[in-house]
Amino acid sequence: MPVAIFSVACIACREESEATDNERLPVEVWALKHTGLNPMHRQYQQKGFGTPAGRRER
Ligand SMILES: [Zn+2]
Repeated sequence: MPVAIFSVACIACREESEATDNERLPVEVWALKHTGLNPMHRQYQQKGFGTPAGRRER
């Protein structure tokens, strides 16, 4: 079974969240905290490894 690894990168400062296996929640919490600390940083680039972008097959 392929493992999807999620992480996001802040577009404003390029900081990246930790990568998590098959779990989006820690990444979303990281993004919320990052926006809380840096109110101008609101856009994140999603990074998914293991699943090609734009394709979701099961
Ligand atoms: Zn940032």
